[in-house]
Amino acid sequence: MNYRSTRDTSNTPAYVSSAEAIKKGLAPDGGLYMPDSIPHLSSGDVEALIPLSYARRAAYVLSMYLTDYDKAALEADCEAAYSEEKFPGGAAVLRKMDDTFSTLELWHGPTCAFKDMALQIMPRLLSRALSMTGEKLRAHILVATSGDTGKAALEGYRDVPGVDITVFYPVDGVSRMQKMQMTTQEGENVNVCAVRGNFDDAQNGVKEIFSDAALADEAKKAGSFFSSANSINWGRLAPQIVYYISAYCDLVKNGSIKLGDEINVCVPTGNFGNIFAAYLAKTMGLPIAHLICASNSNCVLTDFLKTGTYDRTREFFKTMSPSMDILISSNLERLLYVVGGAELTSRLMNELKENGKYTLPADIMAKIGGVFSGYYLSEKETAETIGRTFDKFGYLIDTHTAVGVGCAEKYVTETGDKKVTVIASTASPYKFAADVAASLGRPIDSDEPSEILGTLSSISGTEIPAPLKRTLTLPVRFTRVVDASEMPNVALKK
Ligand SMILES: *Cc1c(COP(=O)(O)O)cnc(C)c1O
Repeated sequence: MNYRSTRDTSNTPAYVSSAEAIKKGLAPDGGLYMPDSIPHLSSGDVEALIPLSYARRAAYVLSMYLTDYDKAALEADCEAAYSEEKFPGGAAVLRKMDDTFSTLELWHGPTCAFKDMALQIMPRLLSRALSMTGEKLRAHILVATSGDTGKAALEGYRDVPGVDITVFYPVDGVSRMQKMQMTTQEGENVNVCAVRGNFDDAQNGVKEIFSDAALADEAKKAGSFFSSANSINWGRLAPQIVYYISAYCDLVKNGSIKLGDEINVCVPTGNFGNIFAAYLAKTMGLPIAHLICASNSNCVLTDFLKTGTYDRTREFFKTMSPSMDILISSNLERLLYVVGGAELTSRLMNELKENGKYTLPADIMAKIGGVFSGYYLSEKETAETIGRTFDKFGYLIDTHTAVGVGCAEKYVTETGDKKVTVIASTASPYKFAADVAASLGRPIDSDEPSEILGTLSSISGTEIPAPLKRTLTLPVRFTRVVDASEMPNVALKK
């Protein structure tokens, strides 16, 4: 299977292998890599996957896309990435709320958020890509983070052969718990550094390093090249397709549906990555009828799906679901490409860059509208959903999952469509414990992580996840704080 840029308008696109797409991340023309065709998943394929473990299901689905990878190698990597040790509660856990709703808990990994699902496997895929493409240099992954991605990337890349990782976080821009998770990171090839300024300062600093040819030269002399772990990398997207297929298998297995029955899927999303993975599962042939795109007050996607106009020129809100506080949904570009082709995608992405907005042609919009519906929740509605879900089901959900549950409820109320619906649950409630407790009407008057976690545990009668509990006991390893101007030195290990 060949990969090409979403913006490559030539008749003979510049194809690359999946290993190259994963190594490069972004295409040279600024577009995102996509396979030249979407593989087909038959009903027989799904049936064959039902008795398998998550790791085996993952290897099967990934091998349909990563055709240049050795199958046995993919199986070994999936077994290691989704092992009992890494995901003690199971990798993608279906939890039935009622006859319509089941959540798909994707946060039983090392950092208690769904990014582990991709970032546990992607480093292994990159490591193989380096040897498959004959790369002699070490890859040095640079990440700017506002919290969740940094920790998940550190856990994923720690001690991976041929790779180093440095994570930059804004010194006052992450929560106490997130800071503690990163500064206590274990592993021989990891580095963590605070940057004076906000997330944008850290992010711009990393972007400048990536575009500085002199720095690249210096790194090369020292034996490495800079690379990113960004969510637009195909190596992060492909593993996310797996859990929707896995969830369908588990619904058949537990008797909620019969093989062939259609389901709906609801995803709380910001960058459009997680929901696009569900769209690919549907396009492959998995019986998904409708996709519900759930947003917080930064409802740029809700408005887009309602009007056909994507407009990022709007007020930005800081919400209690911060991992979805995004105004540029990068992976939407992949949907535009699948539905409208490279010519249209290239034109619209230009308009977005120049004017901050674009409008889809009506026929393309009709295609998208037939599959996706967008809803959003205000902060008040998000808090109410956490309280209501706990009261009704005794089920504690985090702020992002709550956006998904509340939007799925809105969709059912509006349409009466009560098909079995899988709602992606993207973080442990303990990752956003203070807001979750406040939503239950029990605000915690402390910013000490151990106290916040302990209080949520006693309020809710649930266990603190083991990885977070362990973080509280680890020594701090990384204390360096720099100005943004010093970031290149950190990247060059000076
Ligand atoms: C990153 C993240 C999301 C959003 O994921 P997308 O890639 O934007 O779809 C949702 N919830 C949590 C907890 C996250 O960390």
